[in-house]
Amino acid sequence: MTDLYTRLIAGVVFPLQERLKGHDTVAVRRQLEASQWWPLAKLEELRLARLRALLQHAYRYAPYYRQMLATAGCADGAIDALSDLQKLPMLSKALIRAHSEALKSVQARGLSRFNTGGSSGEPLIFWIGKERVSHDVAAKWRATRWWDVDIGDPEAVVWGSPIELGAQDQLRVLRDKLMRTRLLPAFEMSEAKLDEFIATLRRMRPRMVFGYPSSISVIAHHAAARGQRLDDLGCKVVFVTSERLYDHQRAAIEQAFACPVANGYGGRDAGFIAHQCPAGGMHITAEDIIVEIVDEEGRVLPAGQAGEVVVTHLATRDFPFIRYRTGDVAMLDDRSCPCGRGLPLLKEIQGRTTDFVVAADGTLMHGLSLIYVIRDLAGVENFRIVQESLQETSVQLVTNRDFADENIGKIEHGLQQRLGPEVRVRVERVPQIPRESSGKYRYVVSRVTAGNS
Ligand SMILES: [Zn+2]
Repeated sequence: MTDLYTRLIAGVVFPLQERLKGHDTVAVRRQLEASQWWPLAKLEELRLARLRALLQHAYRYAPYYRQMLATAGCADGAIDALSDLQKLPMLSKALIRAHSEALKSVQARGLSRFNTGGSSGEPLIFWIGKERVSHDVAAKWRATRWWDVDIGDPEAVVWGSPIELGAQDQLRVLRDKLMRTRLLPAFEMSEAKLDEFIATLRRMRPRMVFGYPSSISVIAHHAAARGQRLDDLGCKVVFVTSERLYDHQRAAIEQAFACPVANGYGGRDAGFIAHQCPAGGMHITAEDIIVEIVDEEGRVLPAGQAGEVVVTHLATRDFPFIRYRTGDVAMLDDRSCPCGRGLPLLKEIQGRTTDFVVAADGTLMHGLSLIYVIRDLAGVENFRIVQESLQETSVQLVTNRDFADENIGKIEHGLQQRLGPEVRVRVERVPQIPRESSGKYRYVVSRVTAGNS
């Protein structure tokens, strides 16, 4: 039975809202390009107003938050300052798994389902609405334009293969349609593949390159070893993301392409958190994302102290991300950037490491290619893959009752497909996987490539 209110929303308000919203990425980007120059005090006003609106919406329409916000004394958006966020409990990946439906706004329509291993290695399924997609795309677009390049410029994208990316990667599909984008599927980095990539780069002459720093630096080294130039292509900038960027990688890439490297930090789950500007500042997308850095007890830390990155994404009414624990480790910087933008800065992102693994035939592969085998299986709470040697790889699995025993065979088979049929794959079920000293999980560890990244 549909009541009048539902009919009004479904028949009038929602269609109208959709028409108005449509593709509002352009409008959002224009707003962001104005507000990036605002003084911090004005940005804070905007953030507070948007946070109130988000909390109010979450209280009214998301069953999980209705209860949580009432308990925390923040019913119906009743907060006085951004720091009132600290009264609220954090949102962990385990909580998202447990309350996936109750986290959704009952008003949400047309949500897209996303699935990520995140950088923490804990599989996560969550939902994203159109509002949020518009904002994340607009924030990335703004940062792209900081570098005097734009959507439509020829771009080489060093990323996973389209098949493995699957339907979950709608942002990328959208991007590829809009832009002259060429994908270099970089999970397999055999010598022959690397030769192909370099030939493609020389032919297409990208104005920008985008991808994993580990993969792009392998391409840079390979070009140097082959005596092939990449510095005469007219490339203006290399955007890297998804992994920790090491200094030696930055140096190798900058030298090979004869242009600066711009680091970006974010994820499907947490949003487009921060991006480097040409003056060097790692600017937070402050209009949309509130970043808190917390210690192990969840206490908020001041600038200059390293802790876990916790984000509140202000464009997530459909599936609110309020105080979401990313599992990444970073620190805030309280200086202002010489570029003049008022957007606050992140100082250092310490906690993103993705190793390469080596197949039995010597092919260098991105560690993420192994993760895809495991993370989509039902009942997997957490996992870690350890490449012990070229002949042996072990998998530690934390499972719940949804896990079917035949999945073990699937994992063994899937890893052998990628690493080689002769590789021994040992799957072990464990109660939990210990964190590293940095506080992070590493989902792929290779003892073969360790030390020569
Ligand atoms: Zn700057």
